[in-house]
Amino acid sequence: MKPILLAAFLLPSMIINAQNMDNALTPRRQGLAVMAALEAKGDQAGLEKAASEALDNGLTISEAKEALSHLYAYTGFPRSLNALGTLQRVLAQREAAGIQDNPGKDADPLPAGYDALKQGTAVQTQLSGKPFNYSFVPATDYYLKAHLFGDIFARNTLSFADREIVTVSAISALPGCEPQLVAHVSGARNMGVSDAELRALPALLEEKVGLAEAERLREALKAVLGDDHTSVQTVDFSVWPKGQPNTAYAQYFTGNSYLAPMDGGVANVTFEPGCRNNWHIHHKQVQVLICVAGRGWYQEWGKPAVQLVPGTIVEIPEGVKHWHGAASDSWMQHLTFHKDVQDGASNEWLEPVSDEHYEANLTRN
Ligand code: MN
Repeated sequence: MKPILLAAFLLPSMIINAQNMDNALTPRRQGLAVMAALEAKGDQAGLEKAASEALDNGLTISEAKEALSHLYAYTGFPRSLNALGTLQRVLAQREAAGIQDNPGKDADPLPAGYDALKQGTAVQTQLSGKPFNYSFVPATDYYLKAHLFGDIFARNTLSFADREIVTVSAISALPGCEPQLVAHVSGARNMGVSDAELRALPALLEEKVGLAEAERLREALKAVLGDDHTSVQTVDFSVWPKGQPNTAYAQYFTGNSYLAPMDGGVANVTFEPGCRNNWHIHHKQVQVLICVAGRGWYQEWGKPAVQLVPGTIVEIPEGVKHWHGAASDSWMQHLTFHKDVQDGASNEWLEPVSDEHYEANLTRN
């Protein structure tokens, strides 16, 4: 009986570890990265789930606290304190459920006579790869050196490399901070984060945080590592949800689409870049498309394609052969519903829109 019981207890954590094995990032670092990005995004519901998962994977309470606390220097106290509040709630819930999380250990005390400005200057130089002096605002130069890189980085609860994984992931979730993201990807390398680990981050962020965050990091990796990446325009799925893979109609689509049914016979369809449906005809009904995010195309047979951008509304007359989909370099979401539906209404699916046609016909109007 004993081995069976043991296997039953070990199974959940073994499954988690098996999923993480092909990732260059350890489960612990994956947890730090996801929590950091959700802290910066301000997504408390996501963070609640991620914190639990990270603790399940062996992140200690001290490390989780340290990561969210470290981030106040990058995302501000409002985001940092919200996230710490969420962590506190998660820990209380887990304790009430009988889960014993590893408290970890506090940072070691600093040696007597520790000179934060001197040590911080050295740390900042290591991170930047060269001396960095912000002479435009000497007070900020002092805060960066003595406080951020001197006081905060001196806490050995997290390594310098851990801190840079946390920072890179968080800045990926801060729109408009792309130059700092690029600088910290370089900084991460200077602090010992491997290129394989950096390259593993975008897919992780895409799965656990969001597409926009992942794409922002892919752009930064392209700038620093020269990685091949075609820039695509993303959409924010927290506004109109992405929904589930559109398996029911996948056979009539080129590329991946997603469906989020709504009330009132309205469907929210998401197209990945380059995805479009086959040529098709709506018989005895009028289809209405309302583009709500990204960029895409609508084309009637024998006519030029019409660009779809948020706010574009298209009424597709009954019996007209057409297709709709995303641009090659952008996600696209449209709402759709049918009106003037008559008895015997149907959809007739025809041939795919070929790559040649798709690429040749999509000049902007
Ligand atoms: Mn249609």
